[in-house]
Formats: sequence, structure tokens, C-alpha cells
Amino acid sequence: AIAVKNLVKTFGDSTVLNGIDLDIAQGQVSCVIGPSGSGKSTLLRCMAFLEESTKGTIAVNGEVLGFAENANGVRERLPAAANRRIRAQIGMVFQQFNLWPHMTALGNVSEALKTVHKTNRKDAEERAMAQLAKVGLEGRANHYPSQLSGGQQQRVAIARALALNPKIMLFDEPTSSLDPELTGEVLNVMRDLAAEGMTMVVVSHEIGFAATVGQQIIFLDHGKVLFTGSPQEVFKRPRNPRLEQFLDTYI
Ligand code: ATP
Ligand code: MG
Repeated sequence: AIAVKNLVKTFGDSTVLNGIDLDIAQGQVSCVIGPSGSGKSTLLRCMAFLEESTKGTIAVNGEVLGFAENANGVRERLPAAANRRIRAQIGMVFQQFNLWPHMTALGNVSEALKTVHKTNRKDAEERAMAQLAKVGLEGRANHYPSQLSGGQQQRVAIARALALNPKIMLFDEPTSSLDPELTGEVLNVMRDLAAEGMTMVVVSHEIGFAATVGQQIIFLDHGKVLFTGSPQEVFKRPRNPRLEQFLDTYI
């Protein structure tokens, strides 16, 4: 689970996240929707501690990540070792797959196991193969990224994140750089993951996925959560004029 309280993120003079409160429930799929520039990626990057928040707190499974107020009410950076340990519970998948071009699919998935987790080569490769099988790519283990379709590359990226055994997976527009005919295979992998009970936060314009797989829909606009609710509440009878205007452009 992730609990976000009064999260603020500024870049210079611009306030990109403006007091976000959110609860990401364990075992649920939360989908974040909202116009371009509303702060979706920044929110996910803060949750993964790839970006430092300016104010507020983010707690991952009950432990505060990044910064917290001390007894005197002063905001302090938490110890690096604690941040690393908490951060390790979170896996992230990006719009750009960011695979290492000089490594095979197997190499991409097993690399962090070997270098970060110090898993021996045989065990790392076994675990990597199991993850590749899970995303339907056991037959492509020895292919390089350039020999794989975009959808296959993104599935390798998902396997790579899963190999590190995260408790929560964040997806930032995982299908946005794919040709339309390849989005289905990636969404199906995500659907399977959701069915297994993975806690997921998904930023996506795939409204169909959000409506069928999402349990909570979060509508972000200008750095604020304008609306959270079930897919029924959000898609069947949107009451918020900004939300309605947004949905009109996507449905
Ligand atoms: P999109 O749908 O286009 O991906 P988004 O909702 O993910 O948009 P963000 O990428 O979070 O939006 O950006 C929110 C705002 O923050 C934008 O105005 C963007 O220009 C600004 N921003 C993001 N990263 C930085 C940065 N590193 N420095 C300055 N401004 C930034
Ligand atoms: Mg974005």
C-alpha cells in the first residue's frame, strides 16, 4: 500500500503537484488519468523516489520514504539505507522500455539480480527465465532488444522489474509508445499481474483497461486530485465538468 499525504512538488517557480492525498490499497489496481502536464509522471516518480518531493509524505507499506518531519517539525531526508530498502519494494515500468541494447532479454532481466542482489549467475538466470516465461517470452530469452518488437521489449521491461520481487508496481504509460496492435499483449500481462493480486498504480490513456481492471480511478488536473472513485463512478456518470471534458477527448 502507498499513503500519500499533502504531497507538493515544485520545479523552480512552478508547482507541479499541489497537495496530493491518496491511498493506494494493497492488492488493488489504481489508475491515474488526466491531461498532459497534470503531474501524473511526477507523482509516480515521487512514489518511486526517483524525484524528491518538496512537502508532504509518502509511506510505503507503513514506512515513510524519502523525507519526514522530525520532532521539531523540520523536514528531513531519511537515511539512505532506509530509503533504498523501502524503495526496493517498488518496481517501475516506463513508456520508453530503457532496455540495455547490448544485453539479451535474459541478460536484461537477470542483470540487477546479479549486480544489486548479488544472486549467483545460475540462480539469477533461473529466476529471469521464470519471469520471461510469465510474460510469454521464454522463447525470446537470447534475443537482443533490436530483435524484439516494441510489445516484446516492454514485456521484457516488466519481467525485469518483476524479477526484483517488488510488492508494488508502477506503470507510466506503458503502452503509449507502442503501435496499437501491440498494446494488447502488454495490457494482458498487466491484467494477469492484477489478477494475481499485485498492487499496481497505472498511468494510462487506455480507458478500457482502467474501466475493466482498475479498482480506483484517480483523476489528476493541474497537480491536484480532482476526483477519485470506482470506474463506475468515474466513467458511467462523471459529475465533475473537468473530468467530463477530459473523458470526451478519450472516449
Ligand atoms: P503527460 O501526460 O504529457 O506525460 P504528465 O501528467 O505526466 O504529462 P508531468 O510529466 O508530471 O505531467 O509534468 C507535469 C508538469 O511538470 C509539466 O508542466 C512539466 O513541464 C513539469 N515538469 C516535469 N518534470 C520537470 C522537470 N524536471 N523540471 C521542470 N519542470 C518539470
Ligand atoms: Mg507523463
